[in-house]
This record gives sequence, C-alpha cells and structure tokens, in this order.
Amino acid sequence: MSLTVVGSIAFDAIRTPFGERERALGGSATHFSLAASYFTEVRPVGPVGDDFGDAEYDVLRRHGVITDDIEHVGGGKTFFWAGEYEWDMGTAQTLDTQLNVFGDFAPKLSERARDCDLLFLANIQPDLQRDVREQCGNVQAAALDSMNFWIEKTRDSLVKTIGVVDMVLMNDAELRMLTEEPNLVQAAAAVRAMGPRVVIAKQGEYGAALFTEDGFFALPAYPLETVRDPTGAGDSFAGGLMGYLDSQGGATDDATLRRAMTYGSTLASFWVEEFGCERAERLTREEIDDRYEQFKRITAIESVPAT
Ligand code: AMP
Repeated sequence: MSLTVVGSIAFDAIRTPFGERERALGGSATHFSLAASYFTEVRPVGPVGDDFGDAEYDVLRRHGVITDDIEHVGGGKTFFWAGEYEWDMGTAQTLDTQLNVFGDFAPKLSERARDCDLLFLANIQPDLQRDVREQCGNVQAAALDSMNFWIEKTRDSLVKTIGVVDMVLMNDAELRMLTEEPNLVQAAAAVRAMGPRVVIAKQGEYGAALFTEDGFFALPAYPLETVRDPTGAGDSFAGGLMGYLDSQGGATDDATLRRAMTYGSTLASFWVEEFGCERAERLTREEIDDRYEQFKRITAIESVPAT
C-alpha cells in the first residue's frame, strides 16, 4: 500500500505565548508525511526552492518519507508562512503568506506517486489539488483539506475539487465558512451533498467529529497538559488518520475510520507539545501505540459502570 500527498512544503515563522521560531520546517505536506510515515510509505508532492537543503530533506528521509516527487525549482524560494497564536491557541492569525515557488507550480507526478492507493490533497491552491486528483485516476480513496485563505480567494474551484474526492477533513469553522451554514451538522451535510461520502470536522482542542451516511462519531482531543505550538496539528491528524487507513488496506468503513481518527488525534497530541514538527524528531511508534491505548481507555464510554 502507498499514500501520496500534495500540499505545501514550507518554512514557517511561528509565535506563540510559549516561544517563537523564525524558520521552522513546515507546510501541510511536511507535517502530514512525517505523521503518516509511522504507518506506511508516503510520497509528498510539491515544489521547494534553493533555500531547501539537505538538513530539511534529511528530516523527511530519516522518517522513511520518499522525497522523489519533491520538485526543486532552481532560483526559487520555498513557500513561507508566518503565523501567531494568542492565549486561546485555537486559531492562528496569519501574518504573512508568500507562495513563492507555488506561484507557477504545475504538478508532475512520477508513475509511483500516481499509482498510490490513497491520495491526500493537503492544504494548497484547489486547482493544483484537482490537477493531482486527475493524475491519480485509480486511487481507492482521495481526501482533501483546505483553509480560510482558499475559501476566500478560490471558493468555486474548491467546491469543484470537493466534488471529486471521497473524504473532506476540514476545521469546523472552515466548514461553516465554506457552506455559510452556522450549524455544524448541516454544514457537514451540505459538504456531503457536494459529493464526498465522508466529512471529518477538526475541532482543535475539542477533538474531531465524523459524519457519514451511516452515522456520527465524536472524539475528544487527548487531554494534554502541555501545548506549546498548535501549528501542524491538523496536518499531523490527517497524516496519522490516512497513514493508518493505508495500513489497513485503504478501508474507509465507519469502524476503521473511528480507529483512524483516534490515531490521528494521537499524532496531533504529540505534534503540539513542541514547535513545528520538532517532536517528530524523537517520536517512536511505541510511544504512539502507548498513547493510543491510553486514549482508548479514557474514551471508553461503554466501560463506565451503570448506577
Ligand atoms: P495546520 O496543520 O492547519 O496547523 O497547518 C499548518 C501548516 O499550514 C503550516 O506549516 C503552514 O506552512 C501551512 N500553511 C499555512 N497557510 C497555508 C496556505 N495558504 N496554503 C498552504 N499551506 C499553508
């Protein structure tokens, strides 16, 4: 099984009440790939500039991420995002977005990348997401994420792209914004009416909710005492979730999706403990499995004794 992801590969400037970084390795495809690498073979697709060097490639390669489809644009600069979080770390304030090499990026996927079993269209210009979806004609399932930036600038294109995927994973506020529907249940239904079978609403520190034809499932976030930087929480959640689905033969039935969400939340809980993707440097599969088991115990409502 294998998983392909297209999305941003970036340098991030991040400020939170607990510190700052001027130039952290980031980008949706980076966080996603590192998280997914604990479960399966993953190939990120996206451009980088001359400022993206061996140190950055090494972080990915140490995790077994296949970097063949990262396109080096000579003379270009890597995508740059600057963001800030205040005490309520639920939402990032974007201070700066420099598309740089994404400005005229035309994705050219290798045969191996096109032959993937699962495809994730991480947060990037929706025309590019659709282009990649078209190149990967035979995938078992394709999923998509997006954000306010693209909803504001390219809504029509985003709706078209949503129409050609099986699953949508977006923040609850962004689902509401996209559908202009204040009620989350109705917003999820409106997105499902655009085509996808599955909608997963990411709710930051409150967890995530799953909407399918068969039902509904809600998962709290893992109760953490230390949150230093929420950047990458959504992408590591998606990476853990899709990586786990890929490791299960690409199944997307409700029971497998629930376990995948639990793995996704577990990955995100590690991510936010440190800045950017720094926690991934030391993270092991054993730590992930230990926390997953603990998480399952915390959320096992059926084990609460009847009174
Ligand atoms: P999240 O997981 O939602 O916290 O996403 C964090 C990542 O999204 C950061 O590492 C940024 O580099 C990336 N990012 C921010 N804005 C954009 C954008 N407009 N398009 C693509 N990626 C972005």
